[in-house]
Amino acid sequence: MHTQPSHPDTPVLKSKLPAVGTTVFSVMSALAAEHGAVNLGQGFPDFDCDPALLSAVETAMRAGHNQYAPMTGLPSLRTAIAHKIAACYSQQYDIDSEITVTAGATQALTTAILCAVHPGDEVIIIEPAYDSYLPAIELAGGLAVGVPMQLDEHGYRVDWEALADAVSPRTRLIILNTPHNPTGTVLRESDLRALADIVRGTDILLLSDEVYEHMVFDGLRHESVCRHPDLAARAFVVSSFGKTYHVTGWKLGYVVAPAPLMAEFRKVHQYNVFSVNTPMQAGLATHLADPAPYRDLPAFYQRKRDLFRAGLAGTRFTLLPADGTYFQCVRYTAISPILEADFARFLTTEIGVAAIPVSAFYRHGQESGIVRFCFAKKDETLRLALERLARL
Ligand SMILES: *Cc1c(COP(=O)(O)O)cnc(C)c1O
Repeated sequence: MHTQPSHPDTPVLKSKLPAVGTTVFSVMSALAAEHGAVNLGQGFPDFDCDPALLSAVETAMRAGHNQYAPMTGLPSLRTAIAHKIAACYSQQYDIDSEITVTAGATQALTTAILCAVHPGDEVIIIEPAYDSYLPAIELAGGLAVGVPMQLDEHGYRVDWEALADAVSPRTRLIILNTPHNPTGTVLRESDLRALADIVRGTDILLLSDEVYEHMVFDGLRHESVCRHPDLAARAFVVSSFGKTYHVTGWKLGYVVAPAPLMAEFRKVHQYNVFSVNTPMQAGLATHLADPAPYRDLPAFYQRKRDLFRAGLAGTRFTLLPADGTYFQCVRYTAISPILEADFARFLTTEIGVAAIPVSAFYRHGQESGIVRFCFAKKDETLRLALERLARL
């Protein structure tokens, strides 16, 4: 990377996040581009969204919806969100006091952490964990307590006993993610019951990252925290339009929470983001009113998952279960004994398919001989990747 020599008058800035460097996602995407590799690393679709959504946004722009939106989001979009949550999870959220539109799920997650976590508070994260949680906890002055998922031949699952043991009087927040990135694990009702037993009678808050809520396969049900009133009563629940509508570049999402929690969320949101993109909110409000696109999403991605898994069946990769999300984790230890990051690099530069090492989702880089592929790609992209992976 090209670095400019620093000006002698530039003061030394003591980093608030000394451990943060370039993310593995950016590194692998750059490496994939450099080597002409099929990029199954970073999680984003290589196909476009529904043209009707583009038209709805364009119509909104031409109709003059181009100034600041209300701080909490357009009323039409908050109304559509409330209806969707009621239809999907039978939970009512108040449009005025319990729903906020955000600049993607990442901002919702960071803002929730910033408003909830005080210096010295402990935050429980389940590892492997999405990479944005830790820096947000550190910026808030909190202390992340990692609980590793259990891994066996049935895949990854949350170890609720270990999680219960990790709770201390300083635990302020537990962060959940279902369907889970990177493992594809989908929490079951029994998982949420175990969680409810842990938090009952405490003042522990929950932050539930549900950006893959509409990507759950094989007839499984997404156990949204919204479905469980005792959990919803203490939870921020986050989703992403980028994930649901194939528009990750729009960076639009939302958070719902009981009014007292949302009031604190908005105090931070108001002075950090204020409000988000107006015409896209208007377009999404129109689009979200129709349940068909998110209702059809499981079948859409399940077919891609099955195509990808069928293609890998003849290789020496061991396929882990993939119940949700658009990720497939594979064990490569029958092919090579090397470290995950080295194997991902080898796949990218020598085989021509980029992947992400799962060790990147652990604070201490735990090695399991597993990499993650993203199958949110055109069939032809997946076929090209499979052709190359078949060489292994
Ligand atoms: C993609 C992703 C996000 C971020 O969503 P944006 O709307 O793009 O900010 C958050 N959490 C998980 C688990 C993700 O995979």
